[in-house]
Amino acid sequence: MTQKPIPIPDEISGPFFDGTRDGRLMLQHCFACDGWSFPVRERCPHCFAAPLQWRAASGKGTLYTFAIMHQVMNPGFAGATPYNVCQIDLAEGVRMISNVVGVPNADLRIGMDLEVMFDDVGDNVRVPKFRAVAGEKP
Ligand SMILES: [Zn+2]
Repeated sequence: MTQKPIPIPDEISGPFFDGTRDGRLMLQHCFACDGWSFPVRERCPHCFAAPLQWRAASGKGTLYTFAIMHQVMNPGFAGATPYNVCQIDLAEGVRMISNVVGVPNADLRIGMDLEVMFDDVGDNVRVPKFRAVAGEKP
């Protein structure tokens, strides 16, 4: 069976994946304008300052939107369909693409409260995924 692709951390994304391995969602923060940014980049998208600093995010967010994938675009996902691809608005003000786990696709709701968890995908890499906050009515 073909495996799902595993992210390969590089010089720029390394601190992000170091964080996920340790159970922390790391985002880049700009001391010049107090802005957060994601995805990983070399300069602040708000004021173009550099370098950005890595800080642990709260891991809290809400579901902005989602799609349900039925088509197998990569053979590694053949056993996973249908699966959700979600955009999550993090409390820090950035939007992240991920999956919501532990919630049936039919019960996903825009605006639902989510919190990060980390999924071990192999090769010593963990990726952030999101689950409903305890008490959230799906
Ligand atoms: Zn900035």
